[in-house]
Amino acid sequence: MVRLEGLTKTYGSFRAVDGIDLHVPRGSLYGFIGPNGAGKTTSLRMIAGILKPTSGRVWLGGDDVSEDPMAAKQRLGFIPDRPFVYEKLTGGEFLRFVAGLYGQDGEKVEKRSDELLELFELTPWKNELVEAYSHGMRQKLIISSALVHRPEVIVVDEPMVGLDPRGARLLKDIFRGFVERGGTVLMSTHTLEVAQVVCDRMAIIQGGKIAAEGTMDDLRKQTESGDGSLEDLFLKVTGGAAEKELASILEG
Ligand code: ATP
Repeated sequence: MVRLEGLTKTYGSFRAVDGIDLHVPRGSLYGFIGPNGAGKTTSLRMIAGILKPTSGRVWLGGDDVSEDPMAAKQRLGFIPDRPFVYEKLTGGEFLRFVAGLYGQDGEKVEKRSDELLELFELTPWKNELVEAYSHGMRQKLIISSALVHRPEVIVVDEPMVGLDPRGARLLKDIFRGFVERGGTVLMSTHTLEVAQVVCDRMAIIQGGKIAAEGTMDDLRKQTESGDGSLEDLFLKVTGGAAEKELASILEG
């Protein structure tokens, strides 16, 4: 479960995130979508406890991220948009290192790491230095590292970037399996086709605020979009419909 109450981040007089209230129940796969600069990354970083809100509160499970950050972070696997990975560690060492940050080690971590590497088809690369990994392989390793300590909540910024279609499909299946076992996933994405298919509910963020929220059906109703696609709905909410029309005229 993730709960946000009046979450706000200001930079000088600019409100990057402007009073977001949200409840993401356990067992749901929730999408944050919105145009560039809408406030998605800033929100996710505050939820993950790596950026301090100007005001408002974040709960992960029953723990307040500001009041009890260690307990909250134990519940969380965070995959940032520009993840850091140590080039001079092997894939296996990197997973062991991350598990160690959560106070976990030993046989259980080895077994879990091997399972994750197998799942992401990285087993042959386990003992190779990360510097030899392709971009997509790094992304898979980062995702594995967010799962290695068995979190309850995964917060992920643009998870599909850099993955080939097979990797993207695998990730969707993993997230689906994770929420079916009671986990919670909160992801931001620009890939509206992915959001439409995989997310149970979504928030369309614009100008740091939630412009629309709910299931695909709720969003269609709220925006009077008939049976339109998420792209149509998104453009309607975020004011891009005119641009789309212009583009189609220019394309002839
Ligand atoms: P994108 O889809 O382009 O990744 P986003 O929705 O993730 O966008 P954010 O990165 O959260 O957007 O940025 C929200 C707004 O806050 C932007 O206008 C950005 O310029 C501003 N912003 C973010 N970080 C800072 C900072 N450290 N100082 C000043 N402004 C910032």
